[in-house]
Amino acid sequence: MSEGGHGQGLVKGLAVTLKTMVRPAQTQQYPDVAPELPPRSRGVIALLEENCTVCMLCARECPDWCIYIDSHKEEVVVPGAARPRQRNVLDRFDIDFSLCMYCGICVEVCPFDALYWSPEFEYSEYDIRDLLHDKQHLGQWMATVPPPPAHDPHGEASKEETTAARRAAAPGAARGAPAGPAVRRERPARPAPEPGGAEA
Ligand code: SF4
Ligand code: SF4
Repeated sequence: MSEGGHGQGLVKGLAVTLKTMVRPAQTQQYPDVAPELPPRSRGVIALLEENCTVCMLCARECPDWCIYIDSHKEEVVVPGAARPRQRNVLDRFDIDFSLCMYCGICVEVCPFDALYWSPEFEYSEYDIRDLLHDKQHLGQWMATVPPPPAHDPHGEASKEETTAARRAAAPGAARGAPAGPAVRRERPARPAPEPGGAEA
C-alpha cells in the first residue's frame, strides 16, 4: 500500500474514534441502575391458583417437562343436585426454572388464565434446587404482573364486548326481564263432549 493510502486509513480510523468518544454510552449500570425492560418481558411465571382447574394442559404442552402438578378430587354437595359434584383440588404446582426455556407455551395454552408472565428476573440462586418454585412462590409473583394493556381505541372490539352489545340490543335482552307489556295468548276453548259420546 502507498503512503497516501496509509494516511487515508489513519484519518478514517481517527474519525471513527472521535465519533465514538462523543457518543453517549449505551451501557446500563446494572445492578446499580435497574434496566428499563418492556412491561411484557418474560421474567418469571406467576400462578393465579384460584383459576387453575388442574386440566394439566400446561404440564402436557411444556416442551421441557418442567411443570409438576399433583391434585386430588373432592366432593362438593350442591343444594338441589341429585348427586354431589367432583372438583379437582390443587396439591402441588411447581415450575423448575433451571429447566424452563421461557418459551411461554404454558401461559399461552392455559384456558383459564391461571398463568401470567411477570417481568421480574432477579431470582437467581446459589443452589440450583432453589429454582424449583412451588405454588406459594409462583403465587407471590402475581403481585408483580403488570395490568393488561389498554384496549386500542382503533382496534376491533373484543368478542366479549360484541356479544354483550348484541345481547343488550336484542329485544328482551335482559334475560328474565319483560321487554314490554306481556301478551298472553288465550288457549282455544275445549269443545264440550257430546252427550253419550266418547271424548276424542
Ligand atoms: S415457559 Fe415453556 S419451558 Fe417454561 S414452563 Fe412454560 S412451557 Fe415449560
Ligand atoms: S393449563 Fe392452566 S388451568 Fe390447566 S393445569 Fe395448567 S395452570 Fe392449571
